[in-house]
Amino acid sequence: MFDQEDIIARNVKTFWHITDIHFDKDYSVGGNIKDMCHINKQNINIRNYQKAPSVGHYNCDSPYSLVESSFDFMVKTNPNPDFIIFTGDSTPHVRHSELNKEVVLESIKNSTAIIKQYFPKAKIYPSLGNHDAYPIYQTSPQEMFLTNVSEIWKEFLSQESLETFRKGGYFTEIIEPGLRVISINTAFYYIENIKVIFRRDPGDQFEWLKRILSIAKIKNEKVLIIGHVPPGYGLKPLYNDRLLKSYIGFGEQIIAHLYGHNHKDSYNLYYENPNTDWYSNEPEGVIFVAPSITPWHNHHLILPPNNPSLRMFSLDKDAGILLDYHQYWSNLTRNIENGNTTWEMEYIASEFFATGDRGLTPTTMHDAFVQLATNSTYLDEYVNHISVNYPTHCNNQCKEIELCLIVATYHKSQKQLLIHGSLALQFWHITDIHYDWNYRSGGDINNMCHLSNSGHSLVGGSGASPVGNYRCDSPLTLVESAFKFMVTTNANPDFIIFTGDDPPHVPMSELNNELVLQSITNITSYITTNFPNTKIYPAIGNHDVYPQHQLAPGPNWLLNNISEIWSDLLTTESIETLKIGGYYSELIEPGLRIISLNTVFYYTQDNQCVNETDPGNQLSWLSKTLESAKSNNEKVMIIGHVPPGYNEHYNIPNFYEQFNDRFLSVFSNYSEQIIAHFYGHEHSDAFRLYYEDQITDWSSTVPDGVMFITPSLTPWLNPNLPAFPNNPSLRIYEIDSESYALLDYQQYWSNLTDNIITGQIDWQLEYVASEFYQSNNNPLNANTMYQAYQRMLSNQTYLDLYNLYNGVSYPVETCDQVCKTIQLCSIVGLFRSQFSQCLV
Ligand SMILES: [Zn+2]
Ligand SMILES: [Zn+2]
Ligand SMILES: [Zn+2]
Repeated sequence: MFDQEDIIARNVKTFWHITDIHFDKDYSVGGNIKDMCHINKQNINIRNYQKAPSVGHYNCDSPYSLVESSFDFMVKTNPNPDFIIFTGDSTPHVRHSELNKEVVLESIKNSTAIIKQYFPKAKIYPSLGNHDAYPIYQTSPQEMFLTNVSEIWKEFLSQESLETFRKGGYFTEIIEPGLRVISINTAFYYIENIKVIFRRDPGDQFEWLKRILSIAKIKNEKVLIIGHVPPGYGLKPLYNDRLLKSYIGFGEQIIAHLYGHNHKDSYNLYYENPNTDWYSNEPEGVIFVAPSITPWHNHHLILPPNNPSLRMFSLDKDAGILLDYHQYWSNLTRNIENGNTTWEMEYIASEFFATGDRGLTPTTMHDAFVQLATNSTYLDEYVNHISVNYPTHCNNQCKEIELCLIVATYHKSQKQLLIHGSLALQFWHITDIHYDWNYRSGGDINNMCHLSNSGHSLVGGSGASPVGNYRCDSPLTLVESAFKFMVTTNANPDFIIFTGDDPPHVPMSELNNELVLQSITNITSYITTNFPNTKIYPAIGNHDVYPQHQLAPGPNWLLNNISEIWSDLLTTESIETLKIGGYYSELIEPGLRIISLNTVFYYTQDNQCVNETDPGNQLSWLSKTLESAKSNNEKVMIIGHVPPGYNEHYNIPNFYEQFNDRFLSVFSNYSEQIIAHFYGHEHSDAFRLYYEDQITDWSSTVPDGVMFITPSLTPWLNPNLPAFPNNPSLRIYEIDSESYALLDYQQYWSNLTDNIITGQIDWQLEYVASEFYQSNNNPLNANTMYQAYQRMLSNQTYLDLYNLYNGVSYPVETCDQVCKTIQLCSIVGLFRSQFSQCLV
């Protein structure tokens, strides 16, 4: 495409698209990669932190070396572009408290100066990013800040442009006769901008846009639209759809829309109407989103990082089409290994999208979309490009979302696809919070981090940290950060399972009936407050009763009260069975049933039902419920607090023997119905495989079903049992919305050791189940998990990793023979006799 003859024959213009530099002048070689690669300014002695390399890091914004190599490469590749578009975001992603207006303006000045230094003769067309504002994201019409920015960019802009920029951060320029650029300020419409919420037309931009497009139409000009935040999920719904509607009717004028912001490589098509058959109808326009120079990623979201990117476009001015682009990338992983930054071609758009010399038009990019929808290998490649070749965990559902996002550009269509389409149902599993209202910063770590009897905190810093301690239950700060993280990650899950253990592990004398009920009330309402639109399915834990672990069949005072607390969450029918035995069953949606069991009856520390055969008639009710689910062809999720089998964490059985084996036998005929069991209680991360019979030939028999044990939020370690502590955990599951197969889960953790040092609570992804268990696009069913079990038998490294995750990445030694036996036998030896035979 950049063939010299061709360029002359076709009147080809070339231009660089520079976006999201996010140059961080405080990036320091040897800085802390968990703190934006900065050297700690407070000079607090943080030991053992991972040091930032010279070439950049995926946790951090661009060091100068990366910026410099980017521009060196651009100048070497094409020193004389016809123009440059620069779509914003100069400020680094540092804490907002570290920024002020001057720092933000300085950042914009710096990146503008670098571009000018390297391309002194080029015309430059900038747009305003959501980070090019102070306070960050907050930009509004007529504000002084816009005038300040217009000063920085004044040599690129005409008088008229300067005026519109001061008014609303937008402008238009004639690149050359017949070719116009419109720089849109979508930072006004950005979802996190709270300054312009109630304005119909912030800065009169819509009105202006319509006028400019009409002029372009009359004059028969071709138009490039540029901006920072692209249309789609990043803009407020009403503004987003209105912006797209503004372009309808100008398909002849608009060549393409070019954006940044997402730090992702993707494109969108928009249609005349939100409700369209995306396959058979022609789109009105095409939007290209270029990835960033910065490799920084938001580790609070599930998004993977990206490698640094540069993009050069070519356009045929006479034909009024984008001809092509070259996508360049720098392999940061390799740069870190080699200690220097190199750039190379990632792909050529006309080849990858098979557009040939027809150009990158709405029509050719629609053809590419149809191909992506029909060819899964092709879609895989597209998804790899999204993160600029950074390895992603994108499973089939994720790929389907990426495909949908190409066409679901209107808010209306996004909702249709992402919320009601055939995508995954997601649910949080919240368990073992054990919130301790008496936890105090400075409290005694040998006494649950409570204040001493005299009410004093420990002097000299030997007391508990404000963020938690491995010897204590959850302080309020931990509970609050966990919910904040969940809401940020997915505020609208399809439902939530909540498997109990709210009160702290304090002596019986420090609790009573009222305190236990109050604790359940508080935690329940905290969940419903954070997830006001989400259905919650609770289960009773052994700590949700008083005295601890002692629960007798109902009706009784305690079950009546718990039923009262949960009466808003459940149906009247559920409340009836809850009163009798603490169990219930509901349809999550037609075809998917949840059964919440009360396994506290069977727990080895509950001595209220030892002599009964079926306390609360739960097992006979369970049989009937499963039988009717089978005849109605429903899929079933089993939830409960204490799991059956052996507790590998504490090295003790969980249920009395007679209950354990009877309980397991109930499930034997329903392997087709039950997608999985979900438990808590052990405060560890594990899974279980169960068999119809008490078989012991595990080497060749595929199990009937699988149970997942989710670790606790509390890091508390039982000093009386041979366990390791665990880090705080959160987990979100995904099930297929049609087959209800369990697809995946994401396991999040918070590194309490680090939190205590930094004084703040950080959450991060620990692992993705489909990847760790190597499900290869199969569901997380008995078969997949059985293969993971077999891998552990033969592969010590894999077993060690399982053992590490078992304590939520609390550091452990390699899993020796004793550890291996207990871990593996507790996975397959659920029946009591099975377990003891497995040990020998
Ligand atoms: Zn941005
Ligand atoms: Zn617990
Ligand atoms: Zn428990």
